[in-house]
Amino acid sequence: MHAMTLKKLGAPLEWTELPDRQPGPGEIRIKVAACGVCRTDLHVVDGELPEPRVPIVPGHEIVGRIDAIGAGVVGLSIGERVGVPWLGRTCGVCPYCVGGQENLCDRPLFTGYTRDGGFTTSTIADARFAFPLGEVGSDVELAPLLCAGLIGWRSLVIAGDGKRLGLYGFGAAAHIVAQVAKWQGRSVFAFTRPGDLATQTFAQHQGASWAGGSDETPPEPLDAAIIFAPVGALVPPALKAVRKGGRVVCAGIHMSDVPSFPYRLLWEERQLVSVANLTRSDGIEFLRLAPKIGIATKTTQYPLIQANQALANLRAGRFEGAAVLVAG
Ligand SMILES: [Zn+2]
Ligand SMILES: [Zn+2]
Repeated sequence: MHAMTLKKLGAPLEWTELPDRQPGPGEIRIKVAACGVCRTDLHVVDGELPEPRVPIVPGHEIVGRIDAIGAGVVGLSIGERVGVPWLGRTCGVCPYCVGGQENLCDRPLFTGYTRDGGFTTSTIADARFAFPLGEVGSDVELAPLLCAGLIGWRSLVIAGDGKRLGLYGFGAAAHIVAQVAKWQGRSVFAFTRPGDLATQTFAQHQGASWAGGSDETPPEPLDAAIIFAPVGALVPPALKAVRKGGRVVCAGIHMSDVPSFPYRLLWEERQLVSVANLTRSDGIEFLRLAPKIGIATKTTQYPLIQANQALANLRAGRFEGAAVLVAG
């Protein structure tokens, strides 16, 4: 098998040949067909997340087919198409796991961060954390659903039922959430980098009823806003854009510092919350819903060996939607 491996934080990924592995008890081996590239992969490569582990194979939006099954795995079969998300394993016994908040597990493993992920031709996953994907949709189209879709879905649920939803940062996650929110009958207000007219036009094509720069005031007060961009400076304008009792959700795993702001922006029961990781029930719920909504992901494909190019283009905002690495 081959993989694009991070050997040193901040360095380019290296094309490496690794010995084929056999799945252990409770594990499956997956022949990877496609793996999405997420902003979190940039945080992993840059060493911005706590306790980084190297060498590591990044990638946590994996779509592939099972080609070996370890002892004790039930309900999955050879050849079946599965998706592997960011949440790679939980302990099952900490208070969070027991209390239905496995996204906050005290001893988790995260795919492509603390266990090897999907920038590879073959990967091993904990069978309990892989989602059967069925046969509807192409591997490449489905890959961005595994993180951008799932975290986007969790963020949307936490944002509440308000009709007027703001999305700050219109990349992979927002372009999926906009479609879901529109399907739910909400109005989407998309905020991009000031002057980024191309992304504003893209947002309108994805269902946004208004698009503008993050320095602009939306035409009506928002019920909730989700910040996908890793930019803490967006928190005060997002709080300013929501109505009394409105909620601002920070959806990223890493953000630059939030600047100080006057208390009156939070006053009147506005709420500022963050979203961390996902639970398996988020995944099951969203993947069941996605085909009904008919989510169309906009993807740019790169061969696996060009993972560094894909990361560089993501960093520079050179494509719309999501980048996906394809094996072979
Ligand atoms: Zn736990
Ligand atoms: Zn991700």
